[in-house]
Amino acid sequence: MFRIIAANATLAIVHLIIILRSLKPKLTDMINLVLFGPPGAGKGTQSEKLISKYGFVHISTGDLFRWHTKNDTALGQQVKQIMNSGALVPDEITIAMLKEELDKNPEAKGFLFDGFPRTVPQAEALDSFMKENGTAIHFVVALDVTEEEVRNRIAKRRSIENRVDDEEEKLNKRITEYFSKTIHVLPYYREQGRLNTVHGIGDINEIFNNICALLN
Ligand code: AMP
Repeated sequence: MFRIIAANATLAIVHLIIILRSLKPKLTDMINLVLFGPPGAGKGTQSEKLISKYGFVHISTGDLFRWHTKNDTALGQQVKQIMNSGALVPDEITIAMLKEELDKNPEAKGFLFDGFPRTVPQAEALDSFMKENGTAIHFVVALDVTEEEVRNRIAKRRSIENRVDDEEEKLNKRITEYFSKTIHVLPYYREQGRLNTVHGIGDINEIFNNICALLN
C-alpha cells in the first residue's frame, strides 16, 4: 500500500516538473553572449560566423549608431559628432537604444552583443534587462589582442572601408576610451566567473573554433 502511494506521489512530482518546465517563458531557453574586445579585435568577423552557426540575434551598438547617422535620424544627429571624434556615446543614450532593440526581438533564440557593454553601468543595465526577461548573459568572450595588432588591423580597414572613426587621431581616442573605460568591464564579469578569454591573433577559423569550444 505504502509503495503504491509513494509511486503515485513520485509520478505526480514528475508530472508537476514537466508542467512547470513547459510554462517557463521561451526566453529562459536563450543563450546570450557578449563578445568583448578593443576596436579592431575581430568582433565583427567572429560575430558573423557565430550567428550563422548558432542563429543569434546580432546586436552591435556601433552598427546601430552608424545606421542612425547614415539615415540622419534624431538619434543619429545627436551622436554623429561624438562618434566622429572617437569618444563613447553617453550611457543614457546607448542603454535606451539597446533596450529598444531588445524589445524588438521578443522571439530571439539568443542575443550576441557586439560592442556592448563598454562601461560598467552598461553591463549592469544589460544584466537587469536580461533578468527582467527571465534570462541572463551566459557567456562573455573577450578577444585578447595587443594594441599594436589592433592599430595595424584598423589601418588596413581604413584603406578598405573608409570609416571616419578609423582615422588616426580618432582611432587614438577610441583606443584611449577602450583602455580608460571599457577595460573596467572585464573585472565586472571576471568577479562573477563569467569571463572567458580567447587569444584573438592568428587564423580566423582557429579563433572561431576556440570560441565554439567554450560555448559547447
Ligand atoms: P564600434 O563599431 O563598435 O567600434 O562603435 C563605433 C562607435 O560607436 C564608437 O566609437 C562609439 O562612438 C559608438 N559606440 C558603439 N557602441 C557603444 C557603446 N556600447 N557605448 C558607447 N558608445 C558606443
